[in-house]
Amino acid sequence: MQSPNNPFPATLKDGRVILDERCACGHLRTEHQDRLRGTAFGHGRCKLSRFCHCNKFTWSAHIVKT
Ligand SMILES: [Zn+2]
Ligand SMILES: [Zn+2]
Repeated sequence: MQSPNNPFPATLKDGRVILDERCACGHLRTEHQDRLRGTAFGHGRCKLSRFCHCNKFTWSAHIVKT
């Protein structure tokens, strides 16, 4: 189910399209819970935390559309 707050895909000024962002835990931002309702999409804990103990999204890389 896609969140209405999901900012992706997002287009950068240089024209690249960002489909998602990678967290330091190795999972995607869309796989993290929202931190605050409607204002911090995907910045909470990893929804895959049954297997992953990540408590907070930490930006690692852009997932760029190719
Ligand atoms: Zn994470
Ligand atoms: Zn994770």
